[in-house]
Amino acid sequence: MKVYNTLRRSKEEFVPLEEGKVKMYVCGPTVYNFIHVGNARPMIVFDTLRRYFQYKGYDVTFVSNFTDIDDKIILKAKEAGVDFTEITEKYIDAYLEDSKALNFKEEDTIHPKATEYIEEMIEFVKGLEDKGAAYNVDGNVYFDISKAKNYGSLSKKNIDDLQAGARIDIADEKKNPMDFALWKKRKEESEPAWESPWGMGRPGWHLECSVMSKAILGDTMDIHAGGEDLEFPHHENEIAQSETLTGKPFARNWMHNSMITVDNEKMSKSKGNFFTIKDIAKHYDLEVLRLWLLSTHYRNPVNFSDEIMEQTKNGLDRIYNGKSYLERLIETADVSELQENEKELKEKIDSYRLSFEKAMDDDLNTADGLSAIYELVRFTNGHLKETNSKAIAEFALETLLKLSDVLGILYSRGEETLDEEIEKLIEERTQARLDKNYQRADEIRDQLDAMGIELKDTSTGVEWVKK
Ligand SMILES: [Zn+2]
Repeated sequence: MKVYNTLRRSKEEFVPLEEGKVKMYVCGPTVYNFIHVGNARPMIVFDTLRRYFQYKGYDVTFVSNFTDIDDKIILKAKEAGVDFTEITEKYIDAYLEDSKALNFKEEDTIHPKATEYIEEMIEFVKGLEDKGAAYNVDGNVYFDISKAKNYGSLSKKNIDDLQAGARIDIADEKKNPMDFALWKKRKEESEPAWESPWGMGRPGWHLECSVMSKAILGDTMDIHAGGEDLEFPHHENEIAQSETLTGKPFARNWMHNSMITVDNEKMSKSKGNFFTIKDIAKHYDLEVLRLWLLSTHYRNPVNFSDEIMEQTKNGLDRIYNGKSYLERLIETADVSELQENEKELKEKIDSYRLSFEKAMDDDLNTADGLSAIYELVRFTNGHLKETNSKAIAEFALETLLKLSDVLGILYSRGEETLDEEIEKLIEERTQARLDKNYQRADEIRDQLDAMGIELKDTSTGVEWVKK
């Protein structure tokens, strides 16, 4: 499998540190608010990468942190007049609710909280001090970037340019404007703080990820991932402090997902086009959101619009209907009859699995992987009826379910009876015709036809019969 490595700006063959195992870390949210659609993209993309590794037989350790101490959390707690843990607990619960609804594999995820690793963070900073790479100014401890070997190597930034461009505050206590805080001194008595060799304070954000990943995954991991907005300075700083302390490579592969646009505009709070997952859940099934995020390659921007969400919903319906169709075939097919073209049909069905894997092996191309699933559904809808073979239908269904599970889809809709499903499709077709969306109406007719349903337009509405 090839994955794009931001470190070298190229697609590289993935070689695990330890055979059969993948150790990965994805930067998680700061828990002071409901998560938004921008947070969902790395979750879903890298959850799918994890699922694909598992599909290939790897044992995956997947870590994603909660930043549960931060300026924004402290401010929110102060405004509400509550303890900061009340804020973080509330938003961790909300996150877990959303992540489950998005079918993120919570059961296979380790979620460390920053406040549970304060001791390790202090040790880490002491280690950097011992190496002369950290300095204390009156209770604030900074990382000295001049002591990092290759600062800028991930983001391909030049330190001199950065320094020239940095805002220099005369009152700045740092040696270099690009130095960043490892440990922050408590500003007022009421702030949450921990005892340390530098006085009462709390860890800086960049430090948290370095420490938690080291504690759980060791000095070197296979894949460190996150949104492209984190590449600089967050990931650059993680590399600087971790590699300065351990002298070993921090992550062998860095993977970054691209951003989300809304109606082709950049998503931002000021434009009012900033949606939380809970906002979207009011209008769409979150399974549609998951599928939409996977319908574009993760390194390209993905655009949100109502039209695209409708299309995605139709696509998801097609896959669900393909599944029901196969289930019905299995029920009604003749068990005894062996087909002479059984081998060819199996090979054809298997060819969709191969195209799926080929796409996923090419830097997690979920867009092409999804196309292979659609093609599999189209093929089985059109070619399995006449064979009347239970074995073939079972093989097709098993293939469809396996591939869908890699993308983490086909999880939200319960077992509906076929009749209910047919009624729903007919209703949708009637609506499509009222909307003059004849293409969709025809599509549904074909779909029903493939399911063995014949439609009859009568004066009292549409009637249907099983062929
Ligand atoms: Zn991080």
